[in-house]
Amino acid sequence: MKVVVVGGVAGGATAASQLRRLEPDCDITIFEKGRDISFANCGLPYHIGGEVAERGQLIAATPETFGKKDVRVHTDHEVIGVHPGGHRLTVKNLETGEVFEESYDRLILSPGGRPRIIPALEGVTAVHVLHTLEDMDRIMKFIDDEDIKEAVVVGSGFIGMEVTENLRMRDIDVTLVHRNENLYGHVEAEMVAPLLQTLEDQGVNLKLNAEISRVEDGCAHLTNNEKIPAPMIIQGIGLTPNTGFLRGSGVRVTDDGLIPVNEYGQTNVDNVYALGDVMETKYLHVPDVAANIKLAWPAHRMAYTIANHIHGAYDIKFEGLLGTNIMRFFDHEIGSIGLEQKDVRGIDHFVIDHQQNFKAGYMEGASKIRIKMYVGHDGTILRAALISKSGVDKRLDTLAAHIRTGGKAQDLINIEVAYSPPFSSPKSFLNMVGYKAV
Ligand code: FAD
Repeated sequence: MKVVVVGGVAGGATAASQLRRLEPDCDITIFEKGRDISFANCGLPYHIGGEVAERGQLIAATPETFGKKDVRVHTDHEVIGVHPGGHRLTVKNLETGEVFEESYDRLILSPGGRPRIIPALEGVTAVHVLHTLEDMDRIMKFIDDEDIKEAVVVGSGFIGMEVTENLRMRDIDVTLVHRNENLYGHVEAEMVAPLLQTLEDQGVNLKLNAEISRVEDGCAHLTNNEKIPAPMIIQGIGLTPNTGFLRGSGVRVTDDGLIPVNEYGQTNVDNVYALGDVMETKYLHVPDVAANIKLAWPAHRMAYTIANHIHGAYDIKFEGLLGTNIMRFFDHEIGSIGLEQKDVRGIDHFVIDHQQNFKAGYMEGASKIRIKMYVGHDGTILRAALISKSGVDKRLDTLAAHIRTGGKAQDLINIEVAYSPPFSSPKSFLNMVGYKAV
């Protein structure tokens, strides 16, 4: 059996590794249009800031290490067409310009997305994105070569916030520009006050309700008529799915450029699978809502599922997603689980807004953890957002396990937590949320 994988980073490289483990003899080829494969995208901001000291720590595998497992990897090779009728692909070697055809028995698509660029910033040398190892190398070289002391970050999603933190770790002054008034829109506007305070404490110049309209002579002109120095600009304003090469292939792509898949990662076309940032699947706890979660866990889990399906293990299924996410921003942790805010609005629910110390209040360093939880009238935890200086990860992970096993909001009272004053309270944070749901 010949398996071809499109995209060689999170989803693609994992699917190929899993498949090799299960199918020692199958023929596996990865086409990756970029320079590198199998690097830790999630770690890129932290190497810029120095928390990840060695660049090599970000590289999980190389074409050579895959070669030793008998997986062929072609970097700088872009798949430009898919022809399921003939089980063939059209591939372009980006170094030589050569275009050739490749056959497959099974095709795994994990092409991810590419960072969106504000049209006004297209082609400006000082403008960067952070999506790949190449991007990170370019940013770090630019900082050194141009002796960058100040920068503009556009977008306050998790990439914009992580880049802001890591530039500050290098003592670079940052102006953070965000187009509306909701900083870090992954969580409720009313919960981000601690992040706003942190930005101020860190000396970050925040421009809300503003966009860059043009860049001239090293300065960015904003839509609010301000002009700010911008020797370097890093944009983090979302991704466009890399699914254009599927046009005319018969593989179904939604208007948003996503590929709907079933519980085995299968697309609408036989023997063609998709995963990662491009896949459209469903929520685990509210299955009639479509989910596209551009995070690492879904890519890894679907890679395992697809490899097993190709191997014939049909009992292994992708159950659906909860969208569990978390970000550290200096001394705060913030995250959410469940539906997006816009999806909750359409469902009948009540809200629990609860604050409590994350550990015993008499312990040094105790501070509040806040949750806003949306509960359906049957007790389904539709969504929860949390912020604190500590302990958000523990509560999010507990909620993920609780929801996954069918737990309702009122069942939170029965979770028997590990308690000692440095960690929690006898009636723990989530227990108390449960009491409010009864
Ligand atoms: P990718 O990993 O982006 O890989 C897709 C690959 O396909 C790319 O290398 C691309 O060049 C290649 N490709 C595209 N089209 C073609 C084609 N036609 N032919 C050949 N190759 C092609 N997630 C978390 O859960 N937690 C985090 O903390 C986190 N932090 C992140 C920080 C950063 C800076 C970034 C960029 C991402 C972060 N993510 C995080 C998201 C996570 O990395 C992605 O969800 C994950 O990488 C998606 O995997 P993927 O395989 O779909 O796409």
